[in-house]
Amino acid sequence: SICYLDGSYQPLTEARISPMDRGFLFGDGAYEVIPVYSRRPFRIAEHIARLGRTLDAVRIPNPHAAAEWETIVGELVARNAWVDQSIYLHVSRGPDERRNHAFPAVMRPTVFLMSEALVTPSAEVLASGVAAVSAADFRWARCDLKTTALLANCLLRQVAIDKGCAETVLFRDGFLTEGAASNIFIVRDGVLLAPPKSHLMLPGITYDVVLELAARHGLKHRVREILEDEVRTAEEVWLTSSTKEVLAITSLDGRPVGDGRPGPVGREMHAWYQEFKNTVMRV
Ligand code: PLP
Repeated sequence: SICYLDGSYQPLTEARISPMDRGFLFGDGAYEVIPVYSRRPFRIAEHIARLGRTLDAVRIPNPHAAAEWETIVGELVARNAWVDQSIYLHVSRGPDERRNHAFPAVMRPTVFLMSEALVTPSAEVLASGVAAVSAADFRWARCDLKTTALLANCLLRQVAIDKGCAETVLFRDGFLTEGAASNIFIVRDGVLLAPPKSHLMLPGITYDVVLELAARHGLKHRVREILEDEVRTAEEVWLTSSTKEVLAITSLDGRPVGDGRPGPVGREMHAWYQEFKNTVMRV
């Protein structure tokens, strides 16, 4: 595949960065994952805006204006073969001469983008839902930032993988935060519940779309703190992300969620999401 590194498009296998890059040494960087349907980036303005917020918060100068980012992403999409793509966009604080926690006097951010085929959940996975486990959320207190320092997320996701499960649902102090790489919604008494945005979870682009679709279609929904026990006794639990879209969690820690099959509210939301995606693709 073709990637973009610091101004040039090149084969991914040929791209090289310095081992002195702070992205490599410290995980000192910000990233985004942007889904592309029929060669059209989905919600790109929102992804670029979130990137800007992360960069501001971690004090990496944003190397591009929004329009430039959109041009780079568009060019990368055009240079890769797949119709549906997942664009990975990464900005690190760049290289330094010495390994030093303090920022370099002059920051030269490294900009790296690559494309992969976008593989959304198959019909079989959608029909069965996925199994998840739970774990204590031991990440830092700025989970609202999409930084490349993902060691905690990797360790937490692996807890699920080691048990043959797809995702780890995280609880902090008795409350639901999110998944290791997704946001989590639940349904109780037919009402969709979502945890409020805070420093303890990533404000998902898909999370926003799901709440917009709930409002648009008149689905009762509340954004409020969700207790661990409310998740364990929910009728439905879903995970959402740019690549997984809306996916039912049908077992949690080996116990069925609801009747153990994807529920009606989630199936409807998945259909609304597909419909919404298609209308955006046609503009
Ligand atoms: N939460 C975490 C920790 C994530 O890594 C992700 C992204 O994969 C999400 C939530 C979902 O965010 P989005 O819907 O913007 O992909």
